Amino acid sequence: MQTADNIASDKIFAYKIRGVAKRSIAESKFRIRPLPLEDELLSSWLVRTAYMHHSDPATFLNLYLPEYDYRLWDTDLDLYCYDILTAKLADKTGFIKERIYGMTLKSYESYLAEKIYSNNRNKFIIPIYRRQRNVRQFAQRVCPVCLKEDKEAYLRKKWRLFFSTACIKHKCFLIDSCPSCGTPFAVNKRLYDGNFPHCRKCGFSFKTAEPEFINENSYGLKAIQKLYDILNKGTFEFESRFYYSFLFFDMLNHFTKFIKWGYRKNLPIEENILGAEDLPASNAQGISYVTELGIKEQYVIFSALMRLSESKESMVRFLSVNKITVKKLSRSMDYIPFWFSDIYDTINKTKYSYNIIETRNALLYLQKNGITPNIKNLYKIYGMGVSK
Ligand SMILES: [Zn+2]
Ligand SMILES: [Zn+2]
Repeated sequence: MQTADNIASDKIFAYKIRGVAKRSIAESKFRIRPLPLEDELLSSWLVRTAYMHHSDPATFLNLYLPEYDYRLWDTDLDLYCYDILTAKLADKTGFIKERIYGMTLKSYESYLAEKIYSNNRNKFIIPIYRRQRNVRQFAQRVCPVCLKEDKEAYLRKKWRLFFSTACIKHKCFLIDSCPSCGTPFAVNKRLYDGNFPHCRKCGFSFKTAEPEFINENSYGLKAIQKLYDILNKGTFEFESRFYYSFLFFDMLNHFTKFIKWGYRKNLPIEENILGAEDLPASNAQGISYVTELGIKEQYVIFSALMRLSESKESMVRFLSVNKITVKKLSRSMDYIPFWFSDIYDTINKTKYSYNIIETRNALLYLQKNGITPNIKNLYKIYGMGVSK
């Protein structure tokens, strides 16, 4: 079996054979085509593939995909991978397109959000670039213990999500920067080739980072597990009914705004995570709250929100004690997801909520019986008073 090591001993460097065979390389398949690992991120797979060819990742991509003229690594490759590139990579590997697509963050579309954008507008995906400024920031997280245990170290797709603050397997916080010099980790930059992943500035190996463990009873770990379950299944269960997962994530994002604006009464904040610190309040316009927070603060906020969302009762209680009115609730919200309408109605003091089918049937019933199908008559057959 060919492994990265015995290829290394062959000292075959792809970039050394350009000149003679550059054109034929551009038209050929990758010589070595490693299978994507469990939950592997596209950029990670490309780095591994390049190293197996004993080539620098930028050189490698330029040899096989010269039409992009070295620009691929300048973008957020995991988000940017459009249909054309996906098809090209499928062609270079002989893998089906879905296999390449599955490694991109775009594959979270209709799970994490109805739409995944190829820029920074995704609510739960950590952006690589800061808005409006082309500055790289802390975007890629890693679990040092996972990397250490990996037969071949690689990056997980879910490590690009804001709620991936800790590793649920190893019960430790993820890290997004070099523990030795503080430089943000970037998948496309390195100090030397090999020993992936390491700090691009000082060469520190992320596999050797000392993990910061979390008490195994911490609710935050359960919260992350629940979030992953919802994301993987594409559905979530609330009050014994099932709904699409992105409708849940929409509401989760909405609730982070209340915490940003300072509504924190009855918020189940875990102790011993932030020390004496509190979650900061913020007035920053146009920036989502989670992007302003550090990993531990994000851990605490998702822990609290997942606990709140366990039942209708706890959500209603939170909204009530914080005096979050229907007006506040609907502000900056395009629509009320139907799973939430029951909670909305309770806050709104509308007595009951009926689902769409029931309502439609009721309207048909009214029509059939020659009664004007309006709200007043609808409420009458439901036995409710008309709310003011
Ligand atoms: Zn881990
Ligand atoms: Zn460093």
